Amino acid sequence: MVAIQNSKLSLEFIPKGKVLSKIKSNIQEMAFSFWWDNWLGSGPLAFSRTEGGRPGNTSVSNFWNEGQWDLQKLNGTAPAHKISEIMQTAIYYNPDLPDKPIWTPTVRALRNKLPTDDRVQIFCGPTVTRCVCCSMHALEIVEHLFSSGNFARIIWKKYGGHVGIQTENLPLRLLLMKWWMTKACNAVQKLILDTLPIIICWNLWKNRCSSKYGAKNTSLTRVLYSTNSDINLLLRSNFPVIQWPFNWGELYSFIENVQHHTTITQVKWTKPDKGFIKINSDGSAMTNPGKIGGGVIIRDQQSYFIHAMAFPLGEGTNNYAEIEAARIGVQWCLDNGIPRVHLEADFALLDRG
Ligand SMILES: [Zn+2]
Repeated sequence: MVAIQNSKLSLEFIPKGKVLSKIKSNIQEMAFSFWWDNWLGSGPLAFSRTEGGRPGNTSVSNFWNEGQWDLQKLNGTAPAHKISEIMQTAIYYNPDLPDKPIWTPTVRALRNKLPTDDRVQIFCGPTVTRCVCCSMHALEIVEHLFSSGNFARIIWKKYGGHVGIQTENLPLRLLLMKWWMTKACNAVQKLILDTLPIIICWNLWKNRCSSKYGAKNTSLTRVLYSTNSDINLLLRSNFPVIQWPFNWGELYSFIENVQHHTTITQVKWTKPDKGFIKINSDGSAMTNPGKIGGGVIIRDQQSYFIHAMAFPLGEGTNNYAEIEAARIGVQWCLDNGIPRVHLEADFALLDRG
């Protein structure tokens, strides 16, 4: 069983009109902004962020490397639930020209618009149209490449088998629908069911291109390995505390058993021992180090209020603020003839002191 920590959720709201007018003015002159331009077609990515604060200034081309998406960079930056959508969008990048999205592989593959041989033939006239993915040397059409060809079928079977998805002889469109309609029990499983089909299609396409135009031979092992690597990268970047198995069979049963735990701890004030008074102190820091301050409240055994203070402490670290707040509380008690005190502070260093 694995526990996933709750992550903080916050949203930033930016007036839409402002962003849209910004795109219009910049679209011709400079690279698309990764966060603020509507290059995905589903609105600026910044609206999908789950972290607080304002995202940094970065352009789409920073995430596009040698003709493909840099998954490692995307994982470290983009919102997890948007990665599959981004990976479906390829861009034409030339450092001298503005970024320009040109195709969305899955959607385009569904509409039969990938530049496979059968499509190219329409423009170029008769040519050799044999696939490079398997020994069948079949007609290179999208269905063969991504779904019905021996090569693609082995890949889908390898991954779908563990998920319980039968993929034999399914058209690509239905095959993808099967993955996306499969019910997930937890957030990790949802991420995998949504993203893995895209990762598989992407690696099948990469294999096709590198054996057609590059120096590499078609290779099942390479596609399986790079698909496994992409999945692991996706999981390790999104849930870094968990040790994910590399092997897909082990990994998927592990994912199915992931459970979301929320731990609730009751926090309340407890009375000090008889004859003692209690000091509660806390330090604060705007940034660490930075402007710091502290606060103290002092109550008696019956929880009656005795004294409270809040004070700025100038510049320093959060540790210094905590120590100083506690010290000022204790000092006030000593100065006012109260020697028997309990000090309560949420600070680990004080225990060691
Ligand atoms: Zn083939």
